[in-house]
Amino acid sequence: MAEIKTRCLIIGSGPAGYTAAIYTSRANIAPLMIEGYQPGGQLTITTEVENFPGYPEGVTGPKLMEDLRAQAMRFGADIRPGFVKEVDFSTRPFVAKTDNDMTIIADTIIIATGASAKYLGLDDETKYNGMGVSACATCDGFFYRGKKVAVVGGGDTACEEALYLSNLAAEVYMIVRKPHLRASKVMQARVHEKENIKVLHNTITAGLYGVDFLEGAHLVEFNGTPEQREYDLPIDGFFLAIGHSPNTEVFRPFIECDHTGYIKVKGETTATNIPGVFAAGDVADPLYRQAITAAGMGCKAALDVERFLTENA
Ligand code: NDP
Repeated sequence: MAEIKTRCLIIGSGPAGYTAAIYTSRANIAPLMIEGYQPGGQLTITTEVENFPGYPEGVTGPKLMEDLRAQAMRFGADIRPGFVKEVDFSTRPFVAKTDNDMTIIADTIIIATGASAKYLGLDDETKYNGMGVSACATCDGFFYRGKKVAVVGGGDTACEEALYLSNLAAEVYMIVRKPHLRASKVMQARVHEKENIKVLHNTITAGLYGVDFLEGAHLVEFNGTPEQREYDLPIDGFFLAIGHSPNTEVFRPFIECDHTGYIKVKGETTATNIPGVFAAGDVADPLYRQAITAAGMGCKAALDVERFLTENA
């Protein structure tokens, strides 16, 4: 088992992690980054990013992450594959163990593990996972060319997924539990302009059906009201886009989180309840959850680490 010592361990490789790596590298802290299961994070499975400053024509998610990674490497960040499966924050230096047999001894830690897609919690989602059920239209949309698909959710992610799928699939249904969409006005307008997207408001999914592969969804309109209507919608693909949960499980024994699992940070800083452990990006941000706010928090975490190392040298 390899043992590595570092002044700063960055866990996670999304916009927060890479920005923290750029800043700590330039401050001569020589950070070590462990990338996690999805190097580059959530943006590697999105299409166009139109709102990250500095790209007037937009940029694809994977290209943006490639650029951030290259910038971190330019200043000497040590970026390694692996997933942190266990930590001990009870004494400093801290200890982190990875699934590929690294033991890391770190003076400071930046947790930037982001968030993962949520599922509805239906048994049928597991049954048809990979056989019609997906949480990533850009990963799996290709398999549904000319077919009928549904996207669950009414936020920006759901609209983005529906728009992407509308260029491949014959028909796209959005299954929305409320009478209105939560998405921004610009995304709503784009959805409404598309002739092959139909929004099913006030509708929930009770289950899925199909012999081997998914063949349809059991839907309920106006659930629990006198107008309640149950019906089956024949579809080949069922895409979840109902938000994300923060990836904090590994840290819970030591790190204080809110009731939904997001890491609590102190005031305007990125400090957690453990001195020397900081958190940045979606893992500590239930409110904004944007690539640019994650990058901003990554910068703050790096500056907090620099200050902590100076004060605790
Ligand atoms: P949101 O939390 O904004 O939306 C989640 C959607 O899923 C809501 O419509 C919600 O319904 C619905 N939902 C949640 N749980 C269930 C459930 N159990 N059953 C049925 N429906 C459910 O998440 P997003 O991932 O869409 O967005 C997260 C953040 O990222 C937002 O701030 C968003 O603006 C941002 N974002 C921005 C993009 C852009 O600017 N291009 C692209 C993607 C995301 P309800 O409204 O009833 O709660």
